[in-house]
Amino acid sequence: MTKPLPPLRDVIVRYGLSASKALGQNFLFDEQLLARIAAVPGDLEGKAVLEVGPGPGGLTRALLRGGARVTAIEMDQRCLPALAELSDAFPGQLRVIAGDALKLDHSELMGEPFAVLSNLPYNVGTALFVRWLGGEIWPPAWTSLTLMFQQEVAQRIVAAPASDAYGRLGVLAQWRATAKLAIKVHRSAFTPPPKVMSAIVHVEPAAMPEGVSAKMLERVTEAAFGQRRKMMRQSLKGLPGALEALDTLGIDATRRAETLAIAEFVALAKQLSLQR
Ligand code: SAM
Repeated sequence: MTKPLPPLRDVIVRYGLSASKALGQNFLFDEQLLARIAAVPGDLEGKAVLEVGPGPGGLTRALLRGGARVTAIEMDQRCLPALAELSDAFPGQLRVIAGDALKLDHSELMGEPFAVLSNLPYNVGTALFVRWLGGEIWPPAWTSLTLMFQQEVAQRIVAAPASDAYGRLGVLAQWRATAKLAIKVHRSAFTPPPKVMSAIVHVEPAAMPEGVSAKMLERVTEAAFGQRRKMMRQSLKGLPGALEALDTLGIDATRRAETLAIAEFVALAKQLSLQR
């Protein structure tokens, strides 16, 4: 039986954790909402979880109550005493790493398959997302990503072709993974409230199409969406072999990037990988 925990607002006052703008701190105190977020990946009992940016530990509490074994990376030293208190309340369940998540090797740190849950500053969140979804090694060490983003970014991650939000981020998230919008979070749920609405995105790895390099797909989408309003015969001109590949695949070069299905981008990257 764990000890009762003080309300999160009291923790903030006791440890002087005024939200730092520089660290992108917007805290969540609504324990019901935090429990809903922690439940998105399913039963976490006994599972290894990586949480980046626990802050005062609201989401961390919900994860620990769900029985997860949590490794939490936090770069704000001020939060460490509050997190140590949580560690005491859930013996053997919480390991806190003081540091910058962008500079750490997460697979090495975890040493076993792990779920990621995080409410991150938006710039750090996108950088980590691109890192977690990129690379040639698939399936990845993580089993799922459950992450808070500003709603506009969340919509780009789950976007379907032909929508305004469809672009590089959507292709990256969906070509070998499934991505869904799990919970919309009103700005007023945060302290202090950010200017924009947020949403939790949930991603799970899927099978990777054979013969495609992630790097090549990235090059294709970078070129294609770099000039998204242009026809591909223009936007892909600088990518050697791309126009021939479009021709071979029977993809009309007068189409614009946003009209291509993810499978078409994958076929294009595969064809270009073959040509090398
Ligand atoms: N998870 C808490 C919550 O939901 O209330 C805090 C969320 S706050 C938006 C983001 C947290 O990430 C802050 O505690 C901040 O100090 C931390 N943070 C920011 N950049 C980080 C980084 N590069 N590595 C680790 N933690 C970071």
